[in-house]
Amino acid sequence: MTEQTLSIIKPDAVERNLENEIKLFFENNNLKIVKSKKVKISKDEACQFYKVHQTKPFYNDLCNYLSSGPIIVMILEGENAVLHNRKLMGATDPKKAEKGTLREKYGISIDKNSVHGSDSVENGKIEINFFFK
Ligand code: UDP
Ligand code: MG
Repeated sequence: MTEQTLSIIKPDAVERNLENEIKLFFENNNLKIVKSKKVKISKDEACQFYKVHQTKPFYNDLCNYLSSGPIIVMILEGENAVLHNRKLMGATDPKKAEKGTLREKYGISIDKNSVHGSDSVENGKIEINFFFK
C-alpha cells in the first residue's frame, strides 16, 4: 500500500551538510520526497512534537536538541513508507543500527542520531499535520 510518513533530518545532520546525501538515499530507495522544508522550531514546539516521550528521562534533552538548530522536515511517500523508512533509518542507537542504514552511516550517538521517522501510519498523519498544515 502506498503510504506517507514524516521524516526529519535532525540538527546534527543538517549541520554537517548531509541534507542532499540523505535525500538522495531516500529517492534511490523508492521513497519519493513529496514535500520538504527547512525550519527551526522552538523548544515548546519540540516538546509538543515529542509529547509521547514526556515521561522519559531523556525528554528535556530531546526537546532542547531538536530545537537547537535548523531541521529538514519531509513527507516521504511509497510502498509501506512507514516501515520502509524505519528500515532505511536503522535502530535508534547508531551503535546497534544495521550496516548501510542512515543511522549507522551518519549517527553520532543515541540522541544525535541524524534522522527521525514516524513509527505508524496513524502517527505519521499526526506528524505530517504538525509540520504541513
Ligand atoms: N532518545 C534519546 N535517548 C534514548 C532514547 C531515545 O536521546 O535513550 C532520543 C533519540 O533521538 C530518538 C528519540 O529520542 O530518536 C525518540 O525516541 P524513540 O524511542 O521514539 O526512537 P526513534 O523512533 O527515533 O527510533
Ligand atoms: Mg519514535
